[in-house]
Amino acid sequence: MLGGGQLGRMFTHAATAMGYRVAVLDPSPSSPAGEIAHLHLQADYEDKQALSKLVKECAVITTEFENVPAEVLEHLQNDCRVYPAAGAVGIAQSRIREKRFAQSLGIPCTAYHPVCSKQDIEQAFKEIGPDLILKTDRFGYDGKGQVVVKNAEQAIQAWKDLGAVECILEKVIDLQTEISSVLARSSTGEISYFEIAENIHRKGILFTSTVPAHVDEATRQLARHHAQKIAEDLNYCGVLATEYFIDRNNDLYFNEMAPRTHNSGHYTIDACYTSQFEQQVRAICGLSLGSAVTHSAVTMVNILGDLWQEGEPRWCDIIDDPHVKLHLYGKQQARPGRKMGHFCVLAPPGEDTLVQAERMYSRLQPKFE
Ligand code: ADP
Ligand code: MG
Repeated sequence: MLGGGQLGRMFTHAATAMGYRVAVLDPSPSSPAGEIAHLHLQADYEDKQALSKLVKECAVITTEFENVPAEVLEHLQNDCRVYPAAGAVGIAQSRIREKRFAQSLGIPCTAYHPVCSKQDIEQAFKEIGPDLILKTDRFGYDGKGQVVVKNAEQAIQAWKDLGAVECILEKVIDLQTEISSVLARSSTGEISYFEIAENIHRKGILFTSTVPAHVDEATRQLARHHAQKIAEDLNYCGVLATEYFIDRNNDLYFNEMAPRTHNSGHYTIDACYTSQFEQQVRAICGLSLGSAVTHSAVTMVNILGDLWQEGEPRWCDIIDDPHVKLHLYGKQQARPGRKMGHFCVLAPPGEDTLVQAERMYSRLQPKFE
């Protein structure tokens, strides 16, 4: 596993439950996946010695982190099976590349303009302004590297503040809601789709994912169809996540893709026959895929480091509720915005889980009386 964060940790849980041994490559000494894997290679993603050790020890290499240099994956592909392949990861590393790729398949994206200069910014405002979001083309996550801008002047300043790196200016969508699709595709082309999740973000960070999503069947089908096209065109093997915006006219737009398991798919651990992590294990190890059926209504809530500001969160209500499942990632330091864990509220199909989940979340605050 390239990358040792929580996604790698939950993958390692799933893989070891099925009897596999897992090696994790991650530069950090305190890696959530590294600490539970059979082998933690604490080294940079470009460290030749560590990479050759990985090739020697492993039958297959996968990733939980899309920013492993695509050249490293390409190099590894010469000596080992690598799923997903370097080409797919390379596209997902760049907002511009992934949008161009989606458009080439006829999938609608929000209007956007690549930015490499002041002139690009001025042009973007002429063509798609006035309400735009400036985003770095690469390395952005959880709303990092993004600024809402109202005019070219503001955007130029924001672009400089982001280091004048390659960026994208994107039209702000008047959001009705956001949804995501998580699917798994095996090396033989079998695809298994998890149910579409409805996602609420706060300050650019995923707050809740709910299944079933409150969107009509046609929208659900459309999102699934887009995801299928992407997976098939890439001859993808592994777990693939795609995010979509739905605007006030009920139009659907591709936002971004992730060549890996996804935060909005964490609900599958507790609410599906097979989790997205087990599906990743199955896809990359050449097994047939498990059933992606959801057996409960569910809301997943992210637990961010912000909750530690007044001390350890109050876990008691979550632990005492028999319908709530707590997952903590073993991170030693809580920082605002850092994903420390999540919990899932389960209910019989048809019941509303979001309201319960929000209530539960507010009771985590240490100050709660
Ligand atoms: P990342 O998840 O990589 O940080 P996203 O592009 O998915 O980046 O943006 C994070 C969140 O910010 C989105 O899920 C959405 O809530 C909001 N957002 C981003 N771009 C737009 C946009 N063009 N219009 C409206 N909201 C947006
Ligand atoms: Mg996103």
